[in-house]
Amino acid sequence: MRAISLATPTLPPATHTSAYLVGPDDGPGELWIVDPATPYPDQQAVLRAALDAEADAGRRVAGVLLTHHHGDHVGAATMVAAHTGAPIAAHPLTAARLAGRGIEVAWPLEDEAQVGPLTCVWTPGHAPGHLCFLDRATGAMIVGDMVAGVGTILVDPDDGDMTSYLASLARMRALGPTALLPAHGPMIGAAVAKLDEYVAHRLMREARVAAALGAPASIRALVAIAYADTPAPLWPLAARSLEAHLVKLERDGRARRIGDDWALA
Ligand SMILES: [Zn+2]
Repeated sequence: MRAISLATPTLPPATHTSAYLVGPDDGPGELWIVDPATPYPDQQAVLRAALDAEADAGRRVAGVLLTHHHGDHVGAATMVAAHTGAPIAAHPLTAARLAGRGIEVAWPLEDEAQVGPLTCVWTPGHAPGHLCFLDRATGAMIVGDMVAGVGTILVDPDDGDMTSYLASLARMRALGPTALLPAHGPMIGAAVAKLDEYVAHRLMREARVAAALGAPASIRALVAIAYADTPAPLWPLAARSLEAHLVKLERDGRARRIGDDWALA
């Protein structure tokens, strides 16, 4: 397995997305590419050259796998599919979101589908159709935007769901991955410890959000309390995560919505 880091229009501080190539390092064989991400022509040329070198060595791309539908993960999917003849494969919920953007998913992947050496693990939370890909031979897991090697993961209530996100992190942990391969940043070796850290961090934030609730208050006011430890320029993004926490707290019977404001249940 190897990563090709390509510049993408992603969320700072990240600037690049890693496309992962899964297949033999030497000799001929099948190759699977996960998240051919970049929409930039010069970066697509880098990717094409890398795939041509693989083809010269007898390694043929058998599938273009997508973790989820976000633009910084799918930018070169159509180009790679056209260049190699390989089908684009993704979860049906991802396929539905890409249909209107001219990206055609020819191969729907359900939870636990086996794709070459990889097993699909459906992990909704950051995006509804998010898939992780577990390499059965090594136990390494390609984790897309479930975990980040640089920056943090946004759970935006438009696309994401905090209840699902926490459940998906727990499921990933239960599979005991040996390493996490994120879309942004380097490989994470201490996989289970990192997943525990992610869950603990979200529950810490949830506790702060719950503690900030009282009389009806706006999200803007709640961010200043619950994210007091976060630099103010990040508060607009933090407000999205805060709302995802509030939706979960409402579902758990601990918060209630009053117009645009939120209060203790
Ligand atoms: Zn994403």
